[in-house]
Amino acid sequence: MSRSSPSRLVFLFLMCAAVAAAAPAAPAALPSVVVLATGGTIAGAAASDVQAGYKSGQVGVDQLLAAVPQAQKLARLKGEQIANIGSQDMNDDVWMKLAKRVNELTAQSDVDGVVITHGTDTIEETAYFLNLVVKSKKPVVLTAAMRPSTALSADGPLNFFNAVAVAADKDAAGRGVLVVVNDWIHGAASLTKTSTTAVQTFLSPLSGLIGTVAYGTTEFYRGPVGRNTDKSEFAGGPAGPMPRVDIIMAHENMDGALIDAAVAAGAKGLVIAGVGNGNMTQAALDALAAQAKKGIVCVRSSRVTTGNIGRSVEVDDDKYGFVASLEHNPQKARVLLRLALTRTKDLKEIQRMFEEY
Ligand code: ASP
Repeated sequence: MSRSSPSRLVFLFLMCAAVAAAAPAAPAALPSVVVLATGGTIAGAAASDVQAGYKSGQVGVDQLLAAVPQAQKLARLKGEQIANIGSQDMNDDVWMKLAKRVNELTAQSDVDGVVITHGTDTIEETAYFLNLVVKSKKPVVLTAAMRPSTALSADGPLNFFNAVAVAADKDAAGRGVLVVVNDWIHGAASLTKTSTTAVQTFLSPLSGLIGTVAYGTTEFYRGPVGRNTDKSEFAGGPAGPMPRVDIIMAHENMDGALIDAAVAAGAKGLVIAGVGNGNMTQAALDALAAQAKKGIVCVRSSRVTTGNIGRSVEVDDDKYGFVASLEHNPQKARVLLRLALTRTKDLKEIQRMFEEY
């Protein structure tokens, strides 16, 4: 029996290595992403592909998944229908159901990420609420569409595909709740809807984008603004029922009638969508200060789309007993104030929350 020479052994070893390198690698298991559908225009339908009128929330989650088979190449997908409503009808019941389900799913070791389909009207509120109550670093990505699924050039399918790509990407973890629309990745705290009808409606005006996603290829630029998800003191869900908080818009010749009416209707907190830097008429300021004295927590925000509402710039917040909303627009200020009021009525504590979240 001849013995192999050392050079023959090296040759055999190199041959084996070359064959192993040429063989197609076993496909790595795809990440597992659960899709929670809530309705919106992304699930909307019209009678024709070129008409403006349509109904939100007509298409179920299975139809939605079937319409974008390309997404199955990015992740193993499972769908659940949480609701099927236009997001103008979004409410606390759906929010609680959604928060509970996202917290359950993200705690499972066999789930890598969650995509939530939603209407564009209130997506920024739902995203921000989840950003505060989800207790996980795993990607949670909301997406939506401006055109119904039946429209010519519907934007939903690509938005959905891109949202799945972001939810399946490990690099999306730890960036808070994200919103993916029209190739852009927004942080929940920073985005806002800026056009009633344009496909390019969402902007993150003050702090900019978290990243971009082009046909499933993601690029991340930075982390989110503010404390969120696993670092949030609200993580796991609200401590109790969230109290009523109303938003009142300031305008020329404003009086205190709506401020008083909101409190009479049961509001425990008020957010003023002020003019400019959270300003309002002296009559409104006096009515608001009177409610603040009675223990209603009053936050000054602005009806202007972008900018910081600074503490005691034109209005002396210390004197009146107000909270300044800082970077929070009225709708986000309302979400944070409702959660804050489940913990405390202390104005310093609530101002701290506005600084941190
Ligand atoms: N009204 C719709 C909704 O928010 C609008 C949309 O989804 O674009 O459900």
